[in-house]
Amino acid sequence: MSKYKLEYVWLDGYTPVPNLRSKTKIENFDEFPTLDQLPMWGFDGSSTRQAEGRSSDCMLKPVAVYPDVTRINGALVMCEVMMPDGVTPHPSNSRATILDDAGAWFGFEQEYFLFQNGRPIGFPEEGYPAPQGEYYTGVGYKNVGDIARQIVEEHLDLCLDAGINHEGINAEVAKGQWEFQIFGKGSKTAADQVWMARYLLLRLCEQYQIDVEFHCKPIRGDWNGSGMHANFSTDYMREVGGKEYFEKLMSQFQKNMDEHIAVYGPDNHLRLTGLHETQSIDKFSYGLADRGSSIRIPHSFVNSGYKGYLEDRRPNSQGDPYQIASRILKTISEVPTA
Ligand code: ADP
Ligand code: MN
Ligand code: MN
Ligand code: MN
Repeated sequence: MSKYKLEYVWLDGYTPVPNLRSKTKIENFDEFPTLDQLPMWGFDGSSTRQAEGRSSDCMLKPVAVYPDVTRINGALVMCEVMMPDGVTPHPSNSRATILDDAGAWFGFEQEYFLFQNGRPIGFPEEGYPAPQGEYYTGVGYKNVGDIARQIVEEHLDLCLDAGINHEGINAEVAKGQWEFQIFGKGSKTAADQVWMARYLLLRLCEQYQIDVEFHCKPIRGDWNGSGMHANFSTDYMREVGGKEYFEKLMSQFQKNMDEHIAVYGPDNHLRLTGLHETQSIDKFSYGLADRGSSIRIPHSFVNSGYKGYLEDRRPNSQGDPYQIASRILKTISEVPTA
């Protein structure tokens, strides 16, 4: 028997953007625990905007567990928040709203800025650095600054050690802006991993006195905002597809434009302007390899007879991947697959 440090991680009740919260539970196990060995736990919901003070208990239901190599016998435990009965999802529990999604695959491209002393790493104390151009996938001190790459690399290793399915990382278009991509079969698998990767990044940056800025447009002016493009496919899209189904799907996305934007992250009007590789927030469009459209069709999709995955470019960096996946799957479910 060894004592394991189980970090229970959950989303609080702040709106429109929930914060990550966590606390440590010590339990004895013979070896690294499986999900079904992890007990439910409770917390004070009145301190997280999830309950009133007089009836403050909320429950934590473990839904995924990952190794935490920064601690001896450490585990990261992603949780859903439940009502005191332990079975009813709390209203803030967006994960519980995801429809049955057998066969759904999601790839999220999380963009973010690293901020030092209130500005992106590499920005001068006054004014601005050289305009955008060389920063995207750039190399060298003048392009990425001093500490960013070390953080990004450490974060990548933490995620890989945790079993998070990163597909890649890159420096982004604005100075101090980065991206990681996470792919999962099953929308909950992918979204759990995005939240845990955000958690690991925030926790890692504490020791560097660096803030992770997830806001979608932290620097006004001619600087790219941050998105979280959602690449998605279902069994039907990958195996049957076809132009006719694709067009029906797109008209359903068009019809539900407002419902999608509502859960694609706050302040998105600041980012979806029609500039900086975006479509404007009040328009819906799709196009082949078109980074100025709402939904980009990869060449591979058309080349294989309208089969494969699509990229919704509208979700932003602060969006909740549970709500985003939930909405995309709902719209897909409204289109018959005859
Ligand atoms: P770009 O920056 O050109 O938009 P990225 O390579 O950053 O592209 O991201 C593409 C994403 O598409 C990856 O996260 C990948 O996991 C995802 N993806 C690839 N194939 C599928 C698929 N069949 N279903 C869902 N997502 C997919
Ligand atoms: Mn990308
Ligand atoms: Mn990007
Ligand atoms: Mn993309």
